[in-house]
Amino acid sequence: MGGGKNRLRAWQGLRICEQMGTETLNELRAVMDTIVFGQYSVQDLLVGAGFVLGVLILLVILKKIFKKKEEYRHIQLVECSGCGWQGRVSRYAGRCPECNTPLGDQKAQV
Ligand SMILES: [Zn+2]
Repeated sequence: MGGGKNRLRAWQGLRICEQMGTETLNELRAVMDTIVFGQYSVQDLLVGAGFVLGVLILLVILKKIFKKKEEYRHIQLVECSGCGWQGRVSRYAGRCPECNTPLGDQKAQV
């Protein structure tokens, strides 16, 4: 008969767990429905926070892509007026790797 008692105890434990789970869920629901600001509940705020987070991640990705393009814009294809070397240098502080002639925006001959 000891086995039956153990089974009953396990069943009671399960019931307590279930009850606790339901209570936790109800509490969570109550928290979710709590009005925090104006007519916005915790749930609304969480959805909003998730949305903001998604937008931020998207912005970071877009920024990375834009930054690459931006870097490319500051690179120019030039032909050195001093030695005829051709290549890509910075638009602002580029110098010819062959003769060290400054290859800035004004001095470049494409
Ligand atoms: Zn050169």
